[in-house]
Amino acid sequence: MTLDNIIEEIKKAEKIVILTHETPDGDAIGSSLAMRVALKQLGKNPDVIIKEVPKIFDFLPGREEIKENSDIEKYDLAISLDCADFKRLVGNEYFENAKQTIVIDHHGSNKMYGDINFINPVSPACCQILIGMFQYFNINIDKELGTCILTGIITDTGGFRYSGVTPETFEFTADLLQKGVNVSDIYKRVLDTKTKSNFELMKRTIDRMEFLQDGKVTFTYITNKDLEEVNAGIGDHEGLVEIGRDIEGVEVSVFIRQREDDENLYKVSMRSNDYVNVSDVCLMFSGGGHEKAAGAIVQGDIEQVKQKVMNELEKVLCQ
Ligand code: AMP
Ligand code: MN
Ligand code: MN
Repeated sequence: MTLDNIIEEIKKAEKIVILTHETPDGDAIGSSLAMRVALKQLGKNPDVIIKEVPKIFDFLPGREEIKENSDIEKYDLAISLDCADFKRLVGNEYFENAKQTIVIDHHGSNKMYGDINFINPVSPACCQILIGMFQYFNINIDKELGTCILTGIITDTGGFRYSGVTPETFEFTADLLQKGVNVSDIYKRVLDTKTKSNFELMKRTIDRMEFLQDGKVTFTYITNKDLEEVNAGIGDHEGLVEIGRDIEGVEVSVFIRQREDDENLYKVSMRSNDYVNVSDVCLMFSGGGHEKAAGAIVQGDIEQVKQKVMNELEKVLCQ
């Protein structure tokens, strides 16, 4: 039984590190900090290593404990959360060197790169997987822990809107409300607050949006020049891919963003509404994700990347 193996490894380990994916979102940061609180209850003192935490998550309990690096060379245990792929894991050198490794995730495209892999692709957030796990470990889900978990659930479900939400999602939220967690405050902080730079990027994104494939696809982009001009900070591109998806008649929305480290690479983000599995499309570019939200890195200039992506989308839209 995997849950028993996980608790056994946690109990055995002295030095534990918690890791997650690059460009971390609410689920990545929420699940990492939730795991930290839970392990502290079990008498451990884990390190959480995350780079580039967006400012909107500064309110999370334990935020100030997040490290960018560590001087420990060999952890007894490394736990990866919300990350499908070893390549995207920030601090994967700690993972590689650790004596034992555990991967906990909800991506269908997870590559099972741990010694123990606990993957539930029908869970709407990695944070929701943690609820059942912590209950099994007899951990008390208090206000602090609940705030971290709820942040991941709210961000990954777009505020309880996406099809992956389950009765458990609402039961858990109701239970936290009863415990005094300010659900509407978390919601406002992580979903309803835009930075000025994000708003400026949104204007450009909308202005450039093209409708392709009979209006079934939207395409738009952001370059490094844009990011510089609007003085964009970490995470200011979040949410831009959702704009196209919400327009009537659109099945797939495509948003590409130039990579800061290489101007000939673009981070492609895709969202779909009903029938296109964008994770499969992104797999063609060695990316992945979920059926209705996925990403990949593609080489070329804007026009070339657009062509490559549209060629793949054309195949699935014609079926
Ligand atoms: P994003 O468009 O960056 O919000 O990502 C949407 C989903 O796709 C997330 O669940 C990511 O984990 C996944 N994803 C994004 N980029 C990649 C990539 N380069 N490789 C694999 N999965 C990705
Ligand atoms: Mn994530
Ligand atoms: Mn997630």
